[in-house]
Amino acid sequence: MNCIEFRREKLADPRRLSAEAVAHQSDCAACRGFAAEINENEARLAAAFAVPVPEGLAERIVLRRKAGTRFSPRLGMLAASVVLTFAFGILQWKDAGSQDYARLAIEHVMHEPESFTSARLADPELFRRVMHTFGGEMQASLGKVRFMKLCPVPEGTGWHIVFETEQGQLATLILIPGKRMQAQSEQATVGGWNALARPGGQGYYAVITDSPDSLGQVDALVRQRVRWRG
Ligand SMILES: [Zn+2]
Ligand SMILES: [Zn+2]
Repeated sequence: MNCIEFRREKLADPRRLSAEAVAHQSDCAACRGFAAEINENEARLAAAFAVPVPEGLAERIVLRRKAGTRFSPRLGMLAASVVLTFAFGILQWKDAGSQDYARLAIEHVMHEPESFTSARLADPELFRRVMHTFGGEMQASLGKVRFMKLCPVPEGTGWHIVFETEQGQLATLILIPGKRMQAQSEQATVGGWNALARPGGQGYYAVITDSPDSLGQVDALVRQRVRWRG
């Protein structure tokens, strides 16, 4: 079990962990801290159900239900936890200091190498609808969508998308709702990965590539072909 899997399981059902998750927690200090934070906030999480669900979130959950068989059966349960984790993100809002958005995006990608080798929800229409719900109108295609996943992120839940541009560049796009960046953009380089985060839609988005050149090109492509509302 990796950190992403652990966090997903912890968020889906904070009170019941599998043996694998318990084993991961005892080996991984970062996930122990994450679990402690979730546990401490149980009462606040309960209160969070009273927080109005942001516009677009319910639509996103319905969208996933409608798509039916293309999704795994566990996603029904995850959909419920999305509401919870989203509300959790809102409660944490006030505590948010300056965040290293681009670096966090790179760390997310580094923890999920399978996103580059597996095809998942590779559906251009679903991608268009997810972007629309997040607040981005596609003016033209970004290329071929290869992988889409709703992932746990520090702020709650975000979409993790891998696509291939018409020039054959492999790029990751991460959509994080509920957080406003103060800066116009933020850039980071970690372990050969390059990321650029920008405010957009319901929060911010980050583009991640494996070379500085392709980062500039893919960033320009996204800015050209997606019009962000809000
Ligand atoms: Zn871990
Ligand atoms: Zn992910």
